[in-house]
This record gives sequence, structure tokens and C-alpha cells, in this order.
Amino acid sequence: MHCDYLIKNGTVIDGSAHDAEPLKADLAVKGDRITAVGNLSNVTAEKVLDAKGYFVCPGFIDTHAHSEFTLLADGRAEGKICQGVTTEINGNCGLSAAPLYSQAFEQRQKDLEEFNIKERWNNFSEYFALLKKRGLAVNFMTLAGHGNIRASVMGYAGRKPQKQDMKGMLELLRDAINSGAGGLSTGLIYPPGVYAETEEIIELAKETALHGCIYTSHMRSEGDMLLEAVEEAVRIGFESKIRVHISHLKTSGGKKWGKLTDVLKLIEEAGLKGLKISCDRYPYTAGSTDLDAVLPAWVYEGGRGEEMERLKNSEVREKIKKEMPHSKDYYGNITIASVDSDKNKWMEGKRFSDICGALGKSSLEFIFELLIEEDLRVGAIFFSMNEDNLKNILKQPYTMIGSDSSARCFNGVTAKGKPHPRGFFFFF
Ligand SMILES: [Zn+2]
Repeated sequence: MHCDYLIKNGTVIDGSAHDAEPLKADLAVKGDRITAVGNLSNVTAEKVLDAKGYFVCPGFIDTHAHSEFTLLADGRAEGKICQGVTTEINGNCGLSAAPLYSQAFEQRQKDLEEFNIKERWNNFSEYFALLKKRGLAVNFMTLAGHGNIRASVMGYAGRKPQKQDMKGMLELLRDAINSGAGGLSTGLIYPPGVYAETEEIIELAKETALHGCIYTSHMRSEGDMLLEAVEEAVRIGFESKIRVHISHLKTSGGKKWGKLTDVLKLIEEAGLKGLKISCDRYPYTAGSTDLDAVLPAWVYEGGRGEEMERLKNSEVREKIKKEMPHSKDYYGNITIASVDSDKNKWMEGKRFSDICGALGKSSLEFIFELLIEEDLRVGAIFFSMNEDNLKNILKQPYTMIGSDSSARCFNGVTAKGKPHPRGFFFFF
């Protein structure tokens, strides 16, 4: 037999079962198929790779990615490929590539400009056509973001949907699923997901379940109201009869670390009662998101323009301050990951405590000024988790590894800032 690639002398872990024994074997590849596994000493190949001392496994699935824009900017996905990821699940935390209509479309323009993406689209069919044209180094799967759906219909309004709104959202959801989205994701700390009540999500999740798709959630709280947030996810699962996946399960903030036992109990009990429930987690004790996630939810209402107005208004600022966390530790443990302006580039990779010390400013004043200067576009890393809890979560049989990161490359338009290392190293 002659094949394209022959991988010799490796230890094969085929992923068929979690307790399957590793197998010393050779592996033949022809085209895009594995054609033989075993002792292949009689096989010849265009290219032979000696894998002695290495494991040979199927490509890994990154179950929690945020690459909808970076892949369109640069399809090489080096940060993922170099650690063995060949498939990404995108569209997490309520934010997906589509649908993008009206205010949802407007709100994303800066993201597209940041990565020099010239193309524009409204729905998944158009987006997938662009991705295909671009060519990707990884397989791409996506969820439909509830944030996209809600903002496309209702903008960033902090109110309940009316009948007509609900109808519009259901239509967009159906269109997303029919175009290939594999489920519904929510981001219940971000605008506009933060304004959605449980009943709204249940209605959308019911529709999602009808198509055999899943529900994933960046929950409403990962700290103070963590248990209530897990209860909400479980309730959505039972009432919508849908499979539930909790995104980046964690206990955030020192005082909340003790809650993990109860969290795991809630998940296990729901599982015993028949709910199909799982979660993902990245192997780090620091998270990363937009810096403005530290602001109270009402500040985002109406979209970016209104958020900026509120931050610039000194009276409103005082009101915001009262509702923000006050502990010095909380802010001292934040690192700036990315900014847009050249003026503030020096802050990337530095801790708040050092930056504020250098500038002689309080943390809160610094946050307001930086968000205004950067037009809200500040990425931050939050050191808030506990290593023992991390290990405990990763050990659970229902936990999958997910980077919570976008695919970036070592050079080019996606190689910017000092992003969280999980985009390049997330397997132990
Ligand atoms: Zn998230």
C-alpha cells in the first residue's frame, strides 16, 4: 500500500473512550482520511514522520472559542493549530458572527475595523460564504448568539420584549439554525443579554430544542449570585427540554471560592433528574473580557454611544462608582490586555496597581478615563480564581476544555495586544 503520510512508531490515543489504552502503532493517511492503523512496516508513503516518543491523536476540539472575526481576518489560526486544535465551537457568550442587523450591526463595526475586515454581512449564510472564501486552517462550528438576535430586533434596550419583538427574535433564531448554527448561546452579564429575563430565554431555548440543538450560557453571575445563576441554567434546561452547557464554569472572587461544592451538587442533581448538562473550562485562574464588564448593567443601555455619554457625565459617574466593586484587591488584580490607541500601548501587559501608581490615579478614575480615551475598547485580564477549584472542575466527567479565546496568529493583523495566554497554551 502507498499513502500520502505515514506516521510511524507513535503512541496512538484515538479518543474512542476515555479509558481506552494507548496503542503503539503506525498510522497511514491518504487524502483527508486515515486509511490504516497498526504495524504498517510494509506501507510506503510520500512523507514519513517518525513519532517515536510522541502521542498521535485526533485533532482537539476547542469547545469554547471566540474567533468569528479573527478567523475572517486571518484564517491560519496558528495559536490553536500549534496546540493541536482542529475544530472550534464559536459564537459563545451571546456573541456570534450573525445575525447582525440594525443596532447589532452598528455595534460590531469597530471590531471589524480593528481586524481590517472589509466585508459586511447580516446573516449566517452570507457570513459562511465569506469564511469559505477566506479558507480556514480549522473546522468551524458556531452557536447563534442571543445578544446578536436581541440587538438585531430590539437594539440595546433594557426592557422586556413585546410580542412582536419575540416573533422577530424567533425568526432570526430559526434562520440561524437553518443556516447551520448548532445552538443558542447567552451572555447574561453583557448587553443586551443582561436585560433578558429567564422567561425570554426559555422561549428561545424551546425553539432551539425543537431543532435538536443545545443551549450554552455565560451565566448571569460567576461570583455573588453563582448558585442562583446555575439554578437559572438548570431551570431553562428542564422547562425548554434542552441540553445545557455552562460556559467557563468558575467561582470568581475570593469569598465565593467556597461555593464550588454546592455548584457541582446542583449540576449533578440536575443530571440525575435527567437533564443533559455539561460545562467547559480553560486551565487558568485568570479570566479575560472587556474592561467595561466591571460597570453596572444600566450603563450599557442603548448601546455604545449612550454608554460613552454616561461615562463622560461626572454626576452619572458618581452614581456608577457607588455600584462598582470597592475592594482594592479586586482592581489591583486586573491587567490591561489590549488598547486601541498608541498613547496607551505602554499599559498592555501591566497591572492596574502599577499603572495607577505611575499615573497617581485611583482605580475607578483610571477606568473611566481609559474607557473614554479608548472609546470603550479595552481588553482586560482578571486574576480572580482558585487553583484547587480549577482542578476540581477540570476533573469532572462532564467538563470539556475550552479556551474562551479567539484564534490568533504570531504575526499579522490578529497579533496585537498582550492577550490571555489561553489562546496559545490551554492544554496541560
Ligand atoms: Zn463568556
